Amino acid sequence: GERALVNVPESIETVLALLQHKLGDRIAVDRTFAGRPEIHCTPALLNQVVMNILGNAADAMPEGGTIGIETRSTDTLDEIRISDTGPGIPQDLREKIFEPFFTTKPVGAGTGLGLAIAYSVVQAHSGSLGVETAPGGGACFVIGIPRQAA
Ligand code: ADP
Ligand code: MG
Repeated sequence: GERALVNVPESIETVLALLQHKLGDRIAVDRTFAGRPEIHCTPALLNQVVMNILGNAADAMPEGGTIGIETRSTDTLDEIRISDTGPGIPQDLREKIFEPFFTTKPVGAGTGLGLAIAYSVVQAHSGSLGVETAPGGGACFVIGIPRQAA
């Protein structure tokens, strides 16, 4: 798709609206939009990446919890950090989760493709996608898009 200057907070709000039925009242969303608001990317693909990560966060918190969405920027990098208060991801699975068809969900519940797609989209933008432990012990996915990427 065509790349354009995309407003990241607007893109995130669009995806949150689409996921509202899945988040329900049980999941709160904390936003900290502190980064440069606009990045150069393919709009539909950024939405897809954010959608896949937010959908997983909701799946990880069936009893409810909080999703944190934070943007930050340096001179050379724009970051989107999406954290949750779920169980987190064991160290030994942190590379496997990005492989196509890897899933821990019941048959029919997950295709195991969401993160593999997100990873390849971010790579196509010369960016990085990784996972860390969130402060409360949940998962924190970090999307990094280099500023000079065009
Ligand atoms: P799917 O959601 O279809 O299982 P994904 O590629 O989206 O496939 O995710 C792969 C796996 O990564 C999930 O099955 C789950 O084990 C793990 N995972 C992804 N996001 C989270 C998260 N926020 N918390 C805990 N585990 C996660
Ligand atoms: Mg998924």
